[in-house]
Amino acid sequence: MKVIKKNVYYCDFCKKKSLNSLKKHEERCTQNPDRRCGMCDIIDLNPILDEFEDKFVLCVTEHKEHWPGSAIYEEVIEPIWKDEFTLQDIQGAVDGCPACILSVVRCLGLNFWYFQGRFKYDFKAARSDWWDATNKENLRREFCY
Ligand SMILES: [Zn+2]
Ligand SMILES: [Zn+2]
Repeated sequence: MKVIKKNVYYCDFCKKKSLNSLKKHEERCTQNPDRRCGMCDIIDLNPILDEFEDKFVLCVTEHKEHWPGSAIYEEVIEPIWKDEFTLQDIQGAVDGCPACILSVVRCLGLNFWYFQGRFKYDFKAARSDWWDATNKENLRREFCY
């Protein structure tokens, strides 16, 4: 029997793991506040993160659920808003870049769920729209200038 030991690489920021180096991934990982966006020109997300970070605190509450014969404690993390913002505000702050929107929400420890009902966001659809628009813009530039 042959046993092969392999190195497994873990992203420092998210849960991704791979048999190949994740160095490139880490540079762009949406959970890395110092990432370089592959989709837009935002070089430093930190000032934007700071701005939103001041608007809420995350609060951990314990919810007790009763089942026949036992009680389950579940930790629920919820934002307590000081100055409530929406996904639209984030979208505005990052010039609509879908990867940066995802990154801001993840780096802040928020969840898209918190914005539900107020603003629907479909990352995949937004990303393909973004590329469509960017590609069209590039084509336009190529042909018009
Ligand atoms: Zn990652
Ligand atoms: Zn971006």
